[in-house]
Amino acid sequence: MLPYATAAVAEAALGRAMTPAEALWFRYTAGVPDYHLYCLNILFLFVVFTLAPLPVALLELRAPAAVSPYKLQPRVRLSRAEFVRCYKNVLRIFFLVIGPLQLVSYPAVKMVGIHTQLPLPSLGEMAAQLLVYFLVEDYLNYWIHRLLHGEWGYQKIHRVHHEFTAPIGFAAPYAHWAEVLILGIPSFVGPAIAPGHMITFWLWIILRQVEAIETHSGFDFPFTPTKYIPFYGGAEYHDYHHYVGGQSQSNFASVFTYCDYLYGTDRGYRFHKAYLAKLKDLGQNDGEKGDGNGQSYAKLD
Ligand SMILES: [Zn+2]
Ligand SMILES: [Zn+2]
Repeated sequence: MLPYATAAVAEAALGRAMTPAEALWFRYTAGVPDYHLYCLNILFLFVVFTLAPLPVALLELRAPAAVSPYKLQPRVRLSRAEFVRCYKNVLRIFFLVIGPLQLVSYPAVKMVGIHTQLPLPSLGEMAAQLLVYFLVEDYLNYWIHRLLHGEWGYQKIHRVHHEFTAPIGFAAPYAHWAEVLILGIPSFVGPAIAPGHMITFWLWIILRQVEAIETHSGFDFPFTPTKYIPFYGGAEYHDYHHYVGGQSQSNFASVFTYCDYLYGTDRGYRFHKAYLAKLKDLGQNDGEKGDGNGQSYAKLD
């Protein structure tokens, strides 16, 4: 809630006129408690989980021939019922774990200094903070994910996320409830280190989930804008991790590729890519990008 009764008082406190964005923020949030603004995250997550995977899922179900050249594992065709089952499971986790976690985590958000006040951050400030959040999350997620591939962590927790050996966008948040809680920590450490405005925090939550849905889409479209982001993993990169499955000791990072490169956990993936390139040179590649003679790759992973 903003401590100004009117826009004129807010502008007097700022010592200048409000920008159009600040005027909008004042108009719609001045009287709204901060806790309510924070809880909008629940609505944003629900919308993202529901709508972001939908276009690709509809294309896959309604026009499979049109998109199959871009499908990473074209031999795997999931039915409509399997898409629905995945989404229902995600909703169950959403209402039982993700939503309640948002409701009770507000004190931590307040404590680290995430705020709703004026002035609004500049685009540069928001971009810098978002970059920090992505880098911190990527690094911590890498190690937690790698630990979850230990025998106990995999069997008890992470196995659920790997039920989809050929992932779909809806399967990005498809995981054991404990994994959802554990992986909430890396998402919060960045904002705790470099706390910013609530708008930046909303954007972070939305962008991180959109990124996860894209990397689980199961498609490698040539026009994907994220291809221009340096060291970005993307759909093909993470698809390989699911393709290999529980034995996977490759491609643990959630966003970028540098951690796997630095710690040598992309060897299996690089071998896989080199093998496919060689097959293509020999004219023996049947068009499969990720599927095929998987066992031999898995052993080398
Ligand atoms: Zn995994
Ligand atoms: Zn995954």
